[in-house]
Amino acid sequence: VVFGVVQGVGFRPFIYRLAHKLHYTGWVKNIGFGVEIHLESKTKTDFKDFLNDLQETKPPLSQIEEIILEPAAFLDLKDFTIKKTKEGKSFVFISPDISVCENCYQEMMNAVDRRHHYPFINCTDCGPRYTIVKSLPYDRKETTMESFAMCEDCRNEYVDPLDRRYHAQPIACPICGPQIHLAHAKTGRKIKGGIRKTTSLIKEGKILAVKGLGGFHLICHALNHQAVKRLRQIKERKTKPLALMARNLEIIEKYASVSPAERELLVSARRPIVLLKKKKDIRGISPHLDELGFMLPYTPLHYLLLEHLDLIVATSSNKKDAPIMKDEEEGIDALCDYILSHDRPIHMRADDSVIKVVDEQPVFIRRARGYVPYPQRVHKDLSSPRHILALGGELKDTISVYKNGYVVTSQFLGDLDEYQNFKYFEETIQHLTRLFEVKPELIVADLHPNFHSTRYAQKSGLPYLQVQHHFAHILAPLLEHKIPPHKKVLGVSLDGYGYGEDGNAWGGEFLIADYSSYQRFAHFQYVPLPGGDLAAKQPWRMALSYLMDAFGSEIPDVKALKKVRKNNIKGVMHMVEQGINSPLTSSCGRLFDAVSFLAGTSPLEVEFEAEAPMRLESAADEGTQQSYGFSIQSQSLPFQISFVKTIRSVVQDLRQNVKASSISSKFHNTITRVIASIAEKAKKEHGIDTVVFVGGVFLNKKLLHRATAALKKQGFSVLRPVNYSPNDESLSIGQIAYALQKERNNR
Ligand SMILES: [Zn+2]
Ligand SMILES: [Zn+2]
Repeated sequence: VVFGVVQGVGFRPFIYRLAHKLHYTGWVKNIGFGVEIHLESKTKTDFKDFLNDLQETKPPLSQIEEIILEPAAFLDLKDFTIKKTKEGKSFVFISPDISVCENCYQEMMNAVDRRHHYPFINCTDCGPRYTIVKSLPYDRKETTMESFAMCEDCRNEYVDPLDRRYHAQPIACPICGPQIHLAHAKTGRKIKGGIRKTTSLIKEGKILAVKGLGGFHLICHALNHQAVKRLRQIKERKTKPLALMARNLEIIEKYASVSPAERELLVSARRPIVLLKKKKDIRGISPHLDELGFMLPYTPLHYLLLEHLDLIVATSSNKKDAPIMKDEEEGIDALCDYILSHDRPIHMRADDSVIKVVDEQPVFIRRARGYVPYPQRVHKDLSSPRHILALGGELKDTISVYKNGYVVTSQFLGDLDEYQNFKYFEETIQHLTRLFEVKPELIVADLHPNFHSTRYAQKSGLPYLQVQHHFAHILAPLLEHKIPPHKKVLGVSLDGYGYGEDGNAWGGEFLIADYSSYQRFAHFQYVPLPGGDLAAKQPWRMALSYLMDAFGSEIPDVKALKKVRKNNIKGVMHMVEQGINSPLTSSCGRLFDAVSFLAGTSPLEVEFEAEAPMRLESAADEGTQQSYGFSIQSQSLPFQISFVKTIRSVVQDLRQNVKASSISSKFHNTITRVIASIAEKAKKEHGIDTVVFVGGVFLNKKLLHRATAALKKQGFSVLRPVNYSPNDESLSIGQIAYALQKERNNR
């Protein structure tokens, strides 16, 4: 029995061919999360040749987790066959969407191939999966290819076990498969010329909507500043970075540095957007930040589009915070000049995944297309017979389902406070529970009483659990790395906001935790959050709050505050003094906001989450070893970390005209030292040897790198999410972990 990713990736035909080649008889069939193989031979006594070739020549998309060998009765079979199976009883794997493989690419570029320049070429090694599957079993009639009847040539390939397209469900060709069409957006008028015409429209500076795997991209020429500017107006995004798609690696390397680990991700079959260090800026793409997000073409259509183009902007087609559009009917015509679409429907929308590399390991900023619905196995002691659905939080939400030892986490769903995203959330719950035949018996939600996801749990009529936000954050990598139950860790959970047990806005949390419970060991000292949610949009509010924390109402004269209207300053100071609409927060994100504003790297009002901290990070120089002071009040638990000294020193640096790059770097070093000090105390008092880094703040490359190095030097092992994002996307995984432990305790 071979367990792992061995279904929908051409594994059974591979076994079939291998058995034929090595003269074995028997059969292969799909079971749960694997395949069962029966091998017979009258001459061979071991199966070493088979096992060797199995490991060494397995299909590129397969991943073997475990092989179990058992003796079986000799049946004296005459040949080797692929057995049909009834699926659905246990866990069945559905592959993520995979970029076009080398074989298909070569055929597409071959002028005499019957699929020459055909933008929907695919095989068992590549092509659409998750976004076109409607339900199980994974069979053509359960995909959006259902309406396309195979021609005779395709049918012959489809039924031939020796063919690369044996049971390739989305198999298609120019005769029988999907077709592209180009149209004028405003009038809907069809335009001739297909991809060639599309390319020339892009070169002319037009904005195109192009249908991809998980939705439409908005595309324009990356070096045409007017086009980029107009695209930004349409998307209502002034500064949020735009993703780029480049024809090849050489073009990417003109604009950014690419490390070996980054290169590996860029060319991988999953084709994420990889954030790379800028070498040469491109105007209007990623203003005020030191990184550019690049991806390589991943569908055959992209390759054809970029045959005569070097570099395009390829950003998801949505207005502001709404989900990516997947159908023309969703209003795509309002966002572009022309539409290049096709008639293969998208069943499930999915954005491009976004990754950066820190210390040679990926950090997910957004996990979606290419990675979803890859399953996660849980530690064997946590396995439960019950089906569980976890709903995540609110911002950057995902959901997770649990069944038979595996967790499947959805793609990034966005902010559930937007009505359309909430619909997307409901769509995805339907899709995942149907696809994996999960009948939830237990639901898990966040502790926040007013999150849409919490209300969904309450209305479900099913038993539900609630888990504190930062605790759920910490449990996610414990589950991912299969940490055994009862192992205690120090979770450093740093982010913008999560509802705390005491009702305050938590976000600078150090929790000593295992799967069952946590103790709040330390946290950033509370400061007022003047204006509540508004404080997250206007970093100057937090700057004022921290200045008042450090200096009282006699706040010093700071250059950055000159940008703020005097009346506004007075108003906010009054709010803080009187405690009006100023809930208390320990948020690390808000501290970054404050310092970013004071250092002059933040705008008055930010356009997207974490913009001020990202700009502060971009400004930080690499050489500075110094840091600022801070203090830890440790008379009683939880310890409180005060940044009064830090803020006072920042102000002093500002008076002496110290550069933002240096202030930023010193501040990053300060947070690193805070983490190291608390970890040391946790070791002394609780014998902690493992520290977990989670929360959106750890998307900060410089902090993550420095803090990891510091703790390793102190002898800690450092855990962090590698296959999932450290941000709120991972809450639903942590929630599953909590529920599993709870089930275990109940047994
Ligand atoms: Zn292929
Ligand atoms: Zn065909």
